[in-house]
Amino acid sequence: SGPSEEEKILQANLARIKNKIVVLSGKGGVGKSTVAVNLAQALAMAGKKTGLLDVDVHGPSVPRLLSLSGERPRVDADRMEPINAGPNLWVMSLGFLLPSNREAVIWRGPVKMGMIKQFLRDVRWGDLDFLVVDCPPGTGDEPLSVLQLLGPEAKALIVTTPQGVAVDDVRRSVTFCADVGNPVLGIVENMSGHICSKCGEVDDVFGSGGGEALARETGVPFLGRIPLDAEVVRAGDEGFAFLRVHQEGPTAQAMNRIIKPI
Ligand code: ADP
Repeated sequence: SGPSEEEKILQANLARIKNKIVVLSGKGGVGKSTVAVNLAQALAMAGKKTGLLDVDVHGPSVPRLLSLSGERPRVDADRMEPINAGPNLWVMSLGFLLPSNREAVIWRGPVKMGMIKQFLRDVRWGDLDFLVVDCPPGTGDEPLSVLQLLGPEAKALIVTTPQGVAVDDVRRSVTFCADVGNPVLGIVENMSGHICSKCGEVDDVFGSGGGEALARETGVPFLGRIPLDAEVVRAGDEGFAFLRVHQEGPTAQAMNRIIKPI
Protein backbone atom coordinates (compact mmCIF):
# COMPACT_ATOMS: atom_id res chain seq x y z
CA SER A 1 0.00 0.00 0.00
CA GLY A 2 1.14 3.56 -0.71
CA PRO A 3 1.33 6.52 1.65
CA SER A 4 -1.76 7.24 3.75
CA GLU A 5 -4.08 10.16 2.99
CA GLU A 6 -2.64 12.07 5.97
CA GLU A 7 0.91 11.46 4.78
CA LYS A 8 -0.03 12.81 1.34
CA ILE A 9 -1.49 15.96 2.89
CA LEU A 10 1.69 16.45 4.94
CA GLN A 11 3.92 16.03 1.89
CA ALA A 12 1.74 18.36 -0.20
CA ASN A 13 1.90 21.01 2.53
CA LEU A 14 5.69 20.69 2.86
CA ALA A 15 6.21 20.72 -0.90
CA ARG A 16 4.90 24.31 -0.97
CA ILE A 17 7.66 25.47 1.42
CA LYS A 18 10.89 26.21 -0.43
CA ASN A 19 13.37 26.41 2.47
CA LYS A 20 13.11 24.87 5.93
CA ILE A 21 15.37 26.11 8.69
CA VAL A 22 15.37 24.50 12.11
CA VAL A 23 16.86 26.57 14.93
CA LEU A 24 18.50 24.41 17.60
CA SER A 25 20.55 24.94 20.73
CA GLY A 26 22.29 22.64 23.14
CA LYS A 27 20.68 24.25 26.15
CA GLY A 28 18.08 26.84 27.09
CA GLY A 29 18.56 30.54 27.57
CA VAL A 30 21.19 31.03 24.85
CA GLY A 31 18.89 33.16 22.70
CA LYS A 32 17.60 30.50 20.32
CA SER A 33 14.07 31.96 20.18
CA THR A 34 15.49 35.47 19.79
CA VAL A 35 17.58 34.35 16.83
CA ALA A 36 14.63 32.47 15.29
CA VAL A 37 12.34 35.49 15.64
CA ASN A 38 14.89 37.91 14.17
CA LEU A 39 15.77 35.55 11.35
CA ALA A 40 12.08 35.20 10.43
CA GLN A 41 11.55 38.98 10.73
CA ALA A 42 14.58 39.75 8.54
CA LEU A 43 13.47 37.29 5.86
CA ALA A 44 9.96 38.78 5.90
CA MET A 45 11.38 42.31 5.62
CA ALA A 46 13.48 41.14 2.66
CA GLY A 47 10.22 40.26 0.92
CA LYS A 48 10.33 36.53 1.54
CA LYS A 49 7.09 34.84 2.53
CA THR A 50 8.04 33.40 5.90
CA GLY A 51 6.46 31.06 8.42
CA LEU A 52 7.67 30.87 12.00
CA LEU A 53 6.75 27.73 13.90
CA ASP A 54 7.39 27.50 17.62
CA VAL A 55 7.32 23.87 18.75
CA ASP A 56 8.50 24.46 22.29
CA VAL A 57 5.81 22.64 24.27
CA HIS A 58 7.36 23.51 27.62
CA GLY A 59 7.94 27.21 27.14
CA PRO A 60 6.55 28.60 23.90
CA SER A 61 8.12 32.07 23.85
CA VAL A 62 7.48 33.23 20.29
CA PRO A 63 3.96 34.63 20.98
CA ARG A 64 5.36 36.83 23.77
CA LEU A 65 8.40 37.89 21.72
CA LEU A 66 6.09 39.11 18.92
CA SER A 67 3.23 40.53 21.04
CA LEU A 68 0.92 37.75 19.87
CA SER A 69 -0.02 36.30 23.27
CA GLY A 70 -3.74 35.57 23.47
CA GLU A 71 -4.14 35.21 19.69
CA ARG A 72 -6.29 32.26 18.65
CA PRO A 73 -5.76 30.67 15.22
CA ARG A 74 -8.87 30.43 13.06
CA VAL A 75 -9.92 26.85 12.42
CA ASP A 76 -11.97 25.89 9.37
CA ALA A 77 -12.86 22.36 8.35
CA ASP A 78 -9.94 20.55 9.94
CA ARG A 79 -7.19 23.04 9.16
CA MET A 80 -5.75 26.01 11.05
CA GLU A 81 -4.70 29.46 9.85
CA PRO A 82 -1.34 30.72 11.12
CA ILE A 83 -1.40 34.12 12.85
CA ASN A 84 -0.28 37.01 10.65
CA ALA A 85 2.48 39.04 12.32
CA GLY A 86 2.94 41.77 9.72
CA PRO A 87 3.94 41.77 6.04
CA ASN A 88 5.15 38.34 4.83
CA LEU A 89 5.22 36.81 8.32
CA TRP A 90 2.94 34.08 9.70
CA VAL A 91 3.32 32.42 13.07
CA MET A 92 2.09 29.24 14.74
CA SER A 93 2.83 28.23 18.30
CA LEU A 94 1.46 25.83 20.84
CA GLY A 95 1.17 28.96 22.97
CA PHE A 96 -1.85 29.99 20.83
CA LEU A 97 -3.66 26.79 21.71
CA LEU A 98 -3.03 26.59 25.45
CA PRO A 99 -5.69 28.00 27.80
CA SER A 100 -3.17 30.29 29.49
CA ASN A 101 0.53 30.98 29.23
CA ARG A 102 1.01 29.52 32.69
CA GLU A 103 -0.24 26.12 31.56
CA ALA A 104 2.41 23.44 31.99
CA VAL A 105 2.44 20.79 29.30
CA ILE A 106 3.45 17.31 30.31
CA TRP A 107 3.24 15.12 27.24
CA ARG A 108 5.02 11.97 26.33
CA GLY A 109 7.14 11.68 23.18
CA PRO A 110 4.50 10.20 20.85
CA VAL A 111 1.99 12.91 21.80
CA LYS A 112 4.54 15.64 21.09
CA MET A 113 5.33 13.97 17.74
CA GLY A 114 1.60 14.02 16.90
CA MET A 115 1.35 17.71 17.81
CA ILE A 116 4.34 18.64 15.66
CA LYS A 117 2.93 16.63 12.77
CA GLN A 118 -0.32 18.58 13.08
CA PHE A 119 1.57 21.87 12.98
CA LEU A 120 3.23 20.84 9.73
CA ARG A 121 0.26 19.07 8.14
CA ASP A 122 -2.88 20.86 9.35
CA VAL A 123 -1.69 24.48 9.37
CA ARG A 124 -2.39 26.33 6.12
CA TRP A 125 1.11 27.64 5.56
CA GLY A 126 0.44 28.10 1.86
CA ASP A 127 3.34 28.92 -0.44
CA LEU A 128 6.33 29.96 1.67
CA ASP A 129 9.87 30.91 0.77
CA PHE A 130 11.00 30.01 4.29
CA LEU A 131 9.73 28.13 7.30
CA VAL A 132 11.77 28.83 10.44
CA VAL A 133 11.20 26.34 13.25
CA ASP A 134 12.10 27.25 16.83
CA CYS A 135 12.76 23.97 18.66
CA PRO A 136 13.08 23.38 22.39
CA PRO A 137 16.71 23.15 23.56
CA GLY A 138 18.62 19.88 23.46
CA THR A 139 18.38 16.84 21.25
CA GLY A 140 15.13 15.33 22.51
CA ASP A 141 11.85 14.24 20.95
CA GLU A 142 10.80 17.57 19.48
CA PRO A 143 13.88 18.43 17.40
CA LEU A 144 14.03 14.78 16.32
CA SER A 145 10.38 14.83 15.20
CA VAL A 146 10.84 18.15 13.41
CA LEU A 147 13.88 16.97 11.45
CA GLN A 148 12.31 13.61 10.64
CA LEU A 149 9.04 15.15 9.46
CA LEU A 150 10.70 17.90 7.42
CA GLY A 151 13.15 15.45 5.89
CA PRO A 152 16.82 15.74 4.93
CA GLU A 153 16.40 19.04 3.05
CA ALA A 154 15.75 20.91 6.32
CA LYS A 155 18.85 22.77 7.46
CA ALA A 156 19.80 23.33 11.08
CA LEU A 157 21.06 26.57 12.56
CA ILE A 158 22.70 26.05 15.93
CA VAL A 159 22.78 28.83 18.51
CA THR A 160 25.33 28.87 21.31
CA THR A 161 27.01 31.23 23.74
CA PRO A 162 30.78 31.58 24.26
CA GLN A 163 30.84 29.58 27.50
CA GLY A 164 32.54 26.20 27.42
CA VAL A 165 29.55 24.37 28.86
CA ALA A 166 27.28 25.57 26.04
CA VAL A 167 29.91 24.57 23.54
CA ASP A 168 29.83 20.96 24.80
CA ASP A 169 26.07 20.90 24.30
CA VAL A 170 26.44 22.26 20.79
CA ARG A 171 28.83 19.48 19.91
CA ARG A 172 25.96 17.11 20.76
CA SER A 173 23.60 19.11 18.50
CA VAL A 174 26.02 18.84 15.57
CA THR A 175 26.35 15.08 16.08
CA PHE A 176 22.57 14.83 16.39
CA CYS A 177 22.03 16.51 13.00
CA ALA A 178 24.63 14.24 11.41
CA ASP A 179 22.92 11.18 12.89
CA VAL A 180 19.48 12.22 11.65
CA GLY A 181 20.98 13.14 8.27
CA ASN A 182 20.32 16.89 8.17
CA PRO A 183 22.89 19.47 7.06
CA VAL A 184 23.94 22.19 9.48
CA LEU A 185 23.74 25.66 8.00
CA GLY A 186 26.09 26.90 10.68
CA ILE A 187 26.75 27.96 14.23
CA VAL A 188 25.79 31.35 15.66
CA GLU A 189 27.58 32.56 18.79
CA ASN A 190 25.10 34.73 20.70
CA MET A 191 25.77 37.00 23.70
CA SER A 192 29.35 37.21 22.49
CA GLY A 193 30.97 40.31 23.90
CA HIS A 194 29.02 43.14 25.44
CA ILE A 195 27.73 46.38 23.91
CA CYS A 196 28.81 49.13 26.27
CA SER A 197 25.73 51.20 27.08
CA LYS A 198 27.94 54.30 27.36
CA CYS A 199 30.11 54.11 24.25
CA GLY A 200 28.26 51.55 22.08
CA GLU A 201 31.43 49.60 21.38
CA VAL A 202 31.73 45.84 21.78
CA ASP A 203 33.60 44.83 24.92
CA ASP A 204 34.78 41.22 25.21
CA VAL A 205 34.27 40.76 28.98
CA PHE A 206 32.49 37.42 28.69
CA GLY A 207 34.94 35.99 26.22
CA SER A 208 34.13 34.88 22.70
CA GLY A 209 35.36 32.46 20.10
CA GLY A 210 33.95 29.22 21.55
CA GLY A 211 31.46 28.88 18.72
CA GLU A 212 34.12 29.59 16.15
CA ALA A 213 36.53 27.05 17.64
CA LEU A 214 33.74 24.50 17.69
CA ALA A 215 32.81 25.26 14.10
CA ARG A 216 36.43 24.67 13.09
CA GLU A 217 36.54 21.43 15.07
CA THR A 218 33.28 20.02 13.69
CA GLY A 219 33.71 21.31 10.14
CA VAL A 220 30.43 23.25 10.38
CA PRO A 221 30.36 26.85 9.06
CA PHE A 222 30.66 29.65 11.60
CA LEU A 223 27.99 32.24 10.81
CA GLY A 224 29.07 34.94 13.23
CA ARG A 225 28.59 36.40 16.69
CA ILE A 226 25.85 38.56 18.13
CA PRO A 227 26.84 40.78 21.08
CA LEU A 228 25.04 40.90 24.41
CA ASP A 229 22.91 44.00 24.03
CA ALA A 230 20.34 45.42 26.46
CA GLU A 231 18.28 46.57 23.44
CA VAL A 232 17.74 42.92 22.46
CA VAL A 233 16.26 42.23 25.91
CA ARG A 234 14.13 45.36 25.69
CA ALA A 235 12.79 44.38 22.25
CA GLY A 236 11.93 40.91 23.54
CA ASP A 237 10.26 42.30 26.65
CA GLU A 238 8.27 44.81 24.63
CA GLY A 239 7.26 42.15 22.11
CA PHE A 240 8.88 42.98 18.80
CA ALA A 241 11.81 41.61 16.80
CA PHE A 242 14.95 43.68 17.42
CA LEU A 243 15.61 43.89 13.66
CA ARG A 244 12.17 45.33 12.94
CA VAL A 245 13.19 48.53 14.69
CA HIS A 246 17.00 48.60 14.66
CA GLN A 247 18.98 48.59 11.44
CA GLU A 248 22.02 50.48 12.72
CA GLY A 249 24.73 49.58 15.22
CA PRO A 250 26.91 46.53 15.84
CA THR A 251 24.08 44.21 16.96
CA ALA A 252 21.89 44.81 13.89
CA GLN A 253 24.97 44.57 11.66
CA ALA A 254 25.93 41.27 13.30
CA MET A 255 22.43 39.82 12.90
CA ASN A 256 22.17 40.94 9.29
CA ARG A 257 25.60 39.53 8.47
CA ILE A 258 24.50 36.14 9.84
CA ILE A 259 21.21 36.18 7.98
CA LYS A 260 22.60 37.40 4.63
CA PRO A 261 23.88 34.06 3.24
CA ILE A 262 20.61 32.37 4.27
P1 ADP B 1 16.28 30.48 24.37
O1 ADP B 1 15.27 30.43 23.28
O2 ADP B 1 17.61 29.94 23.95
O3 ADP B 1 15.83 29.91 25.67
P2 ADP B 1 15.71 33.34 24.43
O4 ADP B 1 15.77 33.74 22.99
O5 ADP B 1 14.38 33.18 25.06
O6 ADP B 1 16.59 32.02 24.68
O7 ADP B 1 16.61 34.40 25.23
C1 ADP B 1 16.78 34.30 26.62
C2 ADP B 1 16.93 35.70 27.17
O8 ADP B 1 18.14 36.27 26.71
C3 ADP B 1 15.82 36.66 26.74
O9 ADP B 1 15.52 37.50 27.81
C4 ADP B 1 16.44 37.43 25.60
O10 ADP B 1 15.91 38.73 25.48
C5 ADP B 1 17.88 37.49 26.02
N1 ADP B 1 18.81 37.59 24.88
C6 ADP B 1 18.90 36.80 23.81
N2 ADP B 1 19.88 37.20 22.98
C7 ADP B 1 20.43 38.31 23.54
C8 ADP B 1 21.48 39.22 23.18
N3 ADP B 1 22.19 39.08 22.06
N4 ADP B 1 21.74 40.25 24.03
C9 ADP B 1 21.05 40.39 25.17
N5 ADP B 1 20.06 39.59 25.56
C10 ADP B 1 19.74 38.55 24.76
